[in-house]
Amino acid sequence: MTSNTRPIYMDHAATTPMRDEVVEAMHPYLHDQFANPSSIYRIACESRKVVESARETVAHALGAQADEIYFTSGGTESDNWALKGIAFANQKKGNHIITSAIEHHAVLHSVEYLKKQGFSVTYLPVDATGLVDPQAVLNAITDKTTLISVMTANNEIGTIEPISKIGLIARDNGIPFHTDAVQAVGHIPVSVKKDSIDLLSLSAHKFNGPKGMGALYIRKGTAIDNLLHGGSQEKKHRAGTENLAGIVGLATALDIAVRSKESESQQILKLRDRLITGLLSEVPYSRLNGHPTMRLPGNVNISFEFVEGESILLLLDGEKICASTGSACTSGSLEPSHVLLATGLAHEIAHGSLRLTLGYGNTEEDVDTAIEAVTRVVKKLRAISPLYPVKENNNHV
Ligand code: PLP
Repeated sequence: MTSNTRPIYMDHAATTPMRDEVVEAMHPYLHDQFANPSSIYRIACESRKVVESARETVAHALGAQADEIYFTSGGTESDNWALKGIAFANQKKGNHIITSAIEHHAVLHSVEYLKKQGFSVTYLPVDATGLVDPQAVLNAITDKTTLISVMTANNEIGTIEPISKIGLIARDNGIPFHTDAVQAVGHIPVSVKKDSIDLLSLSAHKFNGPKGMGALYIRKGTAIDNLLHGGSQEKKHRAGTENLAGIVGLATALDIAVRSKESESQQILKLRDRLITGLLSEVPYSRLNGHPTMRLPGNVNISFEFVEGESILLLLDGEKICASTGSACTSGSLEPSHVLLATGLAHEIAHGSLRLTLGYGNTEEDVDTAIEAVTRVVKKLRAISPLYPVKENNNHV
């Protein structure tokens, strides 16, 4: 059993704890400084200033201009807006969308909806490590293509996609390029200019900010329809009273993440590699999913043959270790991950996968405890598995 009583949280891709500085920065705007930024009295003007200053901070972090940043309710809304907004605004030009097979459901379900509205979709395959081939993007373009959407980094296997190459291809062909950077922003460098990005989705709760708060970057001049209709907030593009405290929380968290990214990412990357090496060497019949190096600093995704990922999770929960089998939105479903299947993993191996995602607050001791616990749990499950071929004295092949 784990010796300490504090749960070891290794599910940072699902959500992250808020930093104290973020909670402190948000507090006044939940309390005394509550005025609606759209009102005209003095305290409302203060709220407006706060929103615009946060917009500057977000723009600075992405290499964008402030008037290209729109606050939303999170990654899901940003993805929906980008996909539906671009598809409908460009309907007269064409009806073809290119995306990848391993996108988050916020993208995949949006394009499925668009398919029902008469759009056609090309789903790009990925290789065994989860990489999209930029050449495949080029090959998929037709004269009807009006949008390319490929994620910056995958939420399940952590693979970082070659988005700057894809962005260039899109730019050369005059097609808007959207990237779901929800797992990337605050963790790896992302620049809308360098990467030729026209639209970018981000979400505050993935970088130690508040839940229910996100942003969409829309490059100036991009034709896009509104998703939400109502008041004239966000320059008449996204209706709804601004989430003042959430906006402050997002900007504060992003600013801290960007300023400490270099040192923190290096530290987390070391922990990640210690966890990967430890698990692969301690547990026989295990394999790393995703790319070995083009990988998010905190992501570990490993398949253990002859066991079910869900069973590992339940036993780890008993050991006070919080982990996941795939994305939080699909956990609870018995379908194997669409991401792992797209990398060519067999169903039964995909079923035995565990995602441990590290972040702010994790220590070397956490990693060592997790290695020991996962090794023990997998061994226990294999001992009662009729599928496990080695009835051991511990002498695995
Ligand atoms: N896109 C990716 C890659 C994600 O990982 C997530 C959340 O898990 C989302 C979109 C949705 O973001 P949100 O939870 O802010 O709606």
